[in-house]
Amino acid sequence: MFFLQESLNEIKKQGLWRQTRLIPRDSINFCSNDYLGLSHHARVLHGALQAARRYGTGSGAARLVSGNTDMMEILESEIAQWKRVGSAVLFNSGYHANIGVIPALMGEKDVIFSDALNHASIVDGCRLSKAKTLIYRHNDMGHLESLLKGRVSQKASRRLLVTESVFSMEGDLASLEDLKDLASRYQAFLYVDEAHAVGILGRKGTGRSETGAENLLTLGTFGKAFGSYGAFVCGSDVLKKYLMNKARSFIFSTSLPPAAIGASLAALKIVRGPEGERLRRELWSNVDLVNQELGLDQGTSPIFSIRIGDARETMRISERLLRDGIHIQGIRPPTVPEGTSRLRLTVSATHTVGQIAQLISSLKALHS
Ligand SMILES: *Cc1c(COP(=O)(O)O)cnc(C)c1O
Repeated sequence: MFFLQESLNEIKKQGLWRQTRLIPRDSINFCSNDYLGLSHHARVLHGALQAARRYGTGSGAARLVSGNTDMMEILESEIAQWKRVGSAVLFNSGYHANIGVIPALMGEKDVIFSDALNHASIVDGCRLSKAKTLIYRHNDMGHLESLLKGRVSQKASRRLLVTESVFSMEGDLASLEDLKDLASRYQAFLYVDEAHAVGILGRKGTGRSETGAENLLTLGTFGKAFGSYGAFVCGSDVLKKYLMNKARSFIFSTSLPPAAIGASLAALKIVRGPEGERLRRELWSNVDLVNQELGLDQGTSPIFSIRIGDARETMRISERLLRDGIHIQGIRPPTVPEGTSRLRLTVSATHTVGQIAQLISSLKALHS
């Protein structure tokens, strides 16, 4: 077992050591994805408690065994209605969804086209599928099209384009219209991971790719703007039946605990309704404020990427901010490409103007 320690030593040497830690409770959190503050919302808490009282703490089995409840079916149909799509199917997390959906759709004879900055769960889904995966430069539609025209693509029996909608580490947006156009011209499926878009963007917070084209699938998570846990994949009705029969992470894992479903149902009500509108206005007003004050020229999402470059330096700055009571996690490879370590700053609807002022002054003090 010598290699365990050796490998850890190597990780430390590169400044890439990771460990869990307890952050002082009085620090201000600027790295959560709880964009609307719903994880502490009274009605979401109530939804979780009610569900646990009625159905217990665990679901006891996978959905296809005995782990299905009316609440799950209701959540799926409400999601489909809200998104105006044929169907929605629940997964235990976004990670489960990506490692289940991609291998369910694609196999050895197929080709996947994946953005260079796609999330690790998409990367893992592609690997598990055994399909040939071609990586296109981040958001580079010209590069993507040249790959779609290429020999490997022509020989494929199926093609899948996969992208994030709001990129989780960069905070920028995929060119969904161009991707839809390419997908239809080259007869490909388009799979859009909306983990950082649902709840905060689009009509009633539905995300950026609401309309249901035949070849379009989208993923949303409950763990981020919904303040709960779990995920959903939207598409046609036949897609749902297909995934329930083919996606191994759906079939072979105990379904979500009732409290998570209860919380997600309550969060969905808020997201769709007038309070959701209000929270989104507050969120975007905070986003604009941070963008202006820091002169960042970002702000198309609540995710700000402050490039540092060096991994150790990034962690040093993160530590220094924490001493000021500002919690911003440093992000290093392999989460982001080599040499692009950064502070990933996220803004929430629940941050006060005073807290944002504190953030700005701490960040500015870094230069002094
Ligand atoms: C967070 C994230 C996931 C994973 O979702 P979980 O529900 O946290 O497992 C998938 N894709 C993207 C783009 C993400 O940011």
